Amino acid sequence: MEKVNLVGRVVADPEPNRATELENPAVRARPQARVKPINRQQSVLRPVEVERLVEEDHPVRAIWELVGRLLPADFYSGIKAVEGTAGQAAFDPQLLTSLWVYAYSRGVGSAREIARLCEYHPAYQWLTGLEAVNYHSLSDFRTRHPEALSRLFTEVLGLLSHTGLITLERVMQDGTKIKAFAADHSFRREATLREHLEKAREQVEQMGDPAAEELTQRVAKARERALREKQQRLDSALKQLPQIQATTLSEARASSSDPEARIMASKGGFAPGYNVQISTDAAAKIIVGVGVSQAAADAAELVPAVARIEAQLGQRPQQMVVDSGFTNQATIEAMAAESIDLIGSLSDSVAQSEAALRRRGVSPEFFPQAFVYDPGADRYTCPAGQTLAYEGKEKKGTTTRYRYRAKTSACQSCRFKDQCCPQNKKGRSIVRSEDSPVVAAFKAKMRTEATQAIYKQRAGVAEFPNAWIKAKIGLRQFRLRGLAKVGLEALWACLTYNIQQWIRLVWRPQLLILKSSLG
Ligand code: SF4
Repeated sequence: MEKVNLVGRVVADPEPNRATELENPAVRARPQARVKPINRQQSVLRPVEVERLVEEDHPVRAIWELVGRLLPADFYSGIKAVEGTAGQAAFDPQLLTSLWVYAYSRGVGSAREIARLCEYHPAYQWLTGLEAVNYHSLSDFRTRHPEALSRLFTEVLGLLSHTGLITLERVMQDGTKIKAFAADHSFRREATLREHLEKAREQVEQMGDPAAEELTQRVAKARERALREKQQRLDSALKQLPQIQATTLSEARASSSDPEARIMASKGGFAPGYNVQISTDAAAKIIVGVGVSQAAADAAELVPAVARIEAQLGQRPQQMVVDSGFTNQATIEAMAAESIDLIGSLSDSVAQSEAALRRRGVSPEFFPQAFVYDPGADRYTCPAGQTLAYEGKEKKGTTTRYRYRAKTSACQSCRFKDQCCPQNKKGRSIVRSEDSPVVAAFKAKMRTEATQAIYKQRAGVAEFPNAWIKAKIGLRQFRLRGLAKVGLEALWACLTYNIQQWIRLVWRPQLLILKSSLG
């Protein structure tokens, strides 16, 4: 078919009108096109070469190889089926470990989902050799071997250390909040928890014999198990209350879904969660320690983190780099006692005290730096020229705080009172802190350009694994409940992260070299 274009030329029409074409008798007379039919009712048997299900450089091969090389024998010790006896053979721990690691690396954290993927996904089928794996076995395996899993994590660290990817010269510590498997509204006061517990007990007592139930035995047993678990969680929530009460001035509440979870501030606001502490070696961003804490703040988390690194690798890091959440006097003193070089930020503590002054209505021109200290006379002079005399001292840890105060009469009649101390009934006071030699040395060190340059590397190194674990592994919320089990979930995630780093930095480059040497 032809068309006339904008400049009056006759051109071929690239897209002929189908309706107009069909009106053409010549086209109508043409026999109908023959296309291949699709038969979805048929069954097809086709040979599968399992080895060819995944390419040579597929990560699942690397995971299988590494797990096979390093899996501790403890994983096998609990297997009841032994050679020479009857009964069903157990799933190989090397297979179950590899399935979990590969699944986590693809953002899959559910045993049911892995079992489903084993039915059709080539990478999972390659691992299983086309065998089905039931989700109960996968689910039980994830939490059944805490010590062995920790040993596997250590073995992987040993390998990475051997290849020079871990040096422990500089380790960045960071905490990230991960949501617990509990709803915000599951936090209840003691009276409500007792009420719910009473109801749960009544329900358990009223339960009949599962065999006599009209429902299938399986459903009746599942219902009974769910009720008993609910009762246990409520019991546990009541036991957690005294511990929670010690951290709050208001009436304590515990979660009836995950009693060991705590309300924590995260980017989206406050939510039930856990504080996951990750130590990352700066040499190649390898995770050298992981722990889970119920503390909403990081202030006391550095000392246990160093102990975990030492337990995993048999030596302490030379330097720890932390943000202001960790940097406090106790931490500074503890690191000095361990001969670990601490790089941290104290800037937030200054910002916090300035924010407190602002809330009290004090103008920035009357912040403490506007008051001049005279060491000889041991007194301050305020911006209005009045003297703040020594009033007394107090000891906070190893810091001594000296207080100086202006005369009440001077401040009450001062024209700057509304900017300087609007809420004071007495004269304005200033606190001078005298640090312990260790803290003073730390502060002096942190003022140097060299340490500031090191501190600037912190975010890039420390926040990388946190972001990877949330974005790639999808661990934004735990699937398990309780401190011990969420600790295992975090360990699986960090083990997966480290294995991915090994694949990227060691296995793939070695494979490329091998391929190129073979031509
Ligand atoms: S209010 Fe008191 S401390 Fe403040 S500037 Fe006036 S005299 Fe000085």
